[in-house]
Amino acid sequence: MKKIPPFDLTEQYKVIAEEINTAVSKVLASGSYIGGSQVEGFEQQFANYIGTEHCIACNSGTDALYLALRALNIGPGDEVITTPFTFVATAETITAVGATPVFVDIDAQTFNLSLEQVEAAITERTRAIVPVHLFGMPVDMTRLLAIAQTYHLTVIEDCAQATGAEWAGQKVGSIGHIGCFSFYPTKNLGACGDGGAVTTHDLAIAGRIRRLRDHGRKGGYYYEELGVNSRLDAVQAAILQIKLRYLDTWNCQRQAIAQRYQQFLASIPGITLPQEVAGGRTVWNQYTIRVLEQPAKPGPSFRDPSFRDIVRQRLQEQGVQSMVYYPLPLHLQPVYSHLGYQPGQLAVAEQASREVLSLPMFPELSAEQQDQVIYCLKDSLL
Ligand SMILES: *Cc1c(COP(=O)(O)O)cnc(C)c1O
Repeated sequence: MKKIPPFDLTEQYKVIAEEINTAVSKVLASGSYIGGSQVEGFEQQFANYIGTEHCIACNSGTDALYLALRALNIGPGDEVITTPFTFVATAETITAVGATPVFVDIDAQTFNLSLEQVEAAITERTRAIVPVHLFGMPVDMTRLLAIAQTYHLTVIEDCAQATGAEWAGQKVGSIGHIGCFSFYPTKNLGACGDGGAVTTHDLAIAGRIRRLRDHGRKGGYYYEELGVNSRLDAVQAAILQIKLRYLDTWNCQRQAIAQRYQQFLASIPGITLPQEVAGGRTVWNQYTIRVLEQPAKPGPSFRDPSFRDIVRQRLQEQGVQSMVYYPLPLHLQPVYSHLGYQPGQLAVAEQASREVLSLPMFPELSAEQQDQVIYCLKDSLL
């Protein structure tokens, strides 16, 4: 049997190779490689797509989060509430600006920040909340914004896995105060290298981020504050302009695949399927099931293989490559040991880490490949 990868970027390139190659050649011939009209064009198109006044392109999703926090003057002494069940960059950037990430547990169904827990974690030092629309599934932004307004907190949406996702008819990244996007190649809108963007309706924040991404430059060679070098290349901007036109089609293909997985994996014992929240439009950066921990197994620890690990190994042997996002939640990572979180403290996230399994998911995944995934998964659970 042919191997099925968790994602495959070559199939997508084949479809748009001519367009991409032409656009890249043009940029190469132009001699304008950093910033310039390609980047400005992309920023305009992306702002239109997301539905914000402003878009500031930068070097990565990580930088987008860092720049957003800097633009809000969040720093030492401040607390920022976020989820422990996410890619490290979500919390890493909070630490990078000198603030303290405060991890709250997740919702068992959506794997997103539990809004019940958010309110209890707010202190006098809390400045902002960073919800992550994990795996492409939107957070209930109506409820989150209500909490934020009550306590005068800023909301920075981590949209890295959710470009095109919607909550109540609005695109994520246009709902909170600031939206942060990643164009890492495997994201829904991926460049052919690193890239990211910040979106906002706020002119002052947009201006500040523009300066911060360019060394804090005020104009010419004058600096009032220190920034970073986080610009988007013209080549990536040209590629992203082309890919943005396909994004809705690709997201629909992801939705069709997710629907098929839902249909054919329903009512299989030993696993649970992702459940979409009413009011949202999920864009399925990942399709993530739970392989339920076997009750017979006493006191599971992170060192023992979980049943999920065994199933994953069996899938691998049959040529189906799955992924585990994320095997250890951030509050228990060695890098955050100084924060003093204990195992068992954020129990839902910890259990998710032992049970989650992301099945192959990319727009070009064929029906045959999906059938093979479904067949092999059923077999591996026996
Ligand atoms: C990918 C990702 C990031 C970081 O984006 P990069 O472009 O890789 O720096 C941040 N948050 C989440 C949730 C991500 O998945």
